[in-house]
Amino acid sequence: MSAVVMDGKALAARIKEHIRVNCTKLPQTPSLAVVLVGDDPASAVYVRNKERDCSECGIACSDYRLPVETTQEELLCLVNRLNRDKRIDGILVQMPLPAHLNGQQVLEAIAPEKDVDAFHPENVGRILLERERYLPCTPAGIMALLREYGIDPAGKHCVVVGRSNIVGKPMAMLLLHADATVTICHSRTPDLREQCRRADILVSAAGRRGLVTADMVKPGAVVIDVAMNRGEDGRLCGDVDYAAVSEKADYITPVPGGVGPMTRAMLMENTYKAALRRLNG
Ligand code: NAP
Repeated sequence: MSAVVMDGKALAARIKEHIRVNCTKLPQTPSLAVVLVGDDPASAVYVRNKERDCSECGIACSDYRLPVETTQEELLCLVNRLNRDKRIDGILVQMPLPAHLNGQQVLEAIAPEKDVDAFHPENVGRILLERERYLPCTPAGIMALLREYGIDPAGKHCVVVGRSNIVGKPMAMLLLHADATVTICHSRTPDLREQCRRADILVSAAGRRGLVTADMVKPGAVVIDVAMNRGEDGRLCGDVDYAAVSEKADYITPVPGGVGPMTRAMLMENTYKAALRRLNG
């Protein structure tokens, strides 16, 4: 039997509609500042999507496009100006930055209360301590999808493939906080297949097309594919061999239409939360 397809696109649309209704009840429109340095085409697409999400949710989006030769000082100066600007609730600097810029220093310059990506060390620490101000967008989107499909991680064995600061590590943390037993795998894990086969919930965020094959999946597992790779035909695809794994898993996320739209919806949620915090003092 084929797995249930976890429809992130549909759930994200419902979440965004809910945010839109809530935004109309606020005395002021929430606002997100999006900073893009250089002309990387993929980053430009991400920024356009964020602008579209903002407009669907009734969130004001101000766009700061800086030339590729922007210096670290100029970028930090803009971030500091946005930090001080009372009309701005959330600040997002699109990564990756051009190679001559120090992305970590820029992320750390964003005021933690405006850090709607939850990448600032203070917000990362808060997540670890379960005192979060904002939830990290991709892992939070995955937790919302699990909830939507009635999948409770408590007592389950979850395997996260990938240990990046933006996906793998915070994902493992949210699953742990939901009472799962979590294994984190990475490129130096010697027995990836055996580790994955033990997963009740398998989250793959390696960015390696074809990495997760059906023989790595336990029958009846929940398979979450975070990755956004390009296939030989140039189409978007994940890490998971979707057709074969669908026949083995009970639940699976498609790429596109699974985790991606949920990540975007969670950014809108965090921006709404930032506005709410500001308005409530
Ligand atoms: P990243 O920083 O490159 O991290 C990839 C992780 O996967 C690393 O920890 C790496 O291990 C591990 N890995 C790579 N090859 C592996 C292998 N063969 N076996 C086991 N582990 C392996 O990437 P990221 O930023 O976390 O993103 C991961 C993927 O998710 C990318 O495709 C990205 O485009 C996608 N993404 C999607 C969304 C969304 O909303 N859908 C959001 C963010 C990212 P090491 O640490 O040992 O190198």
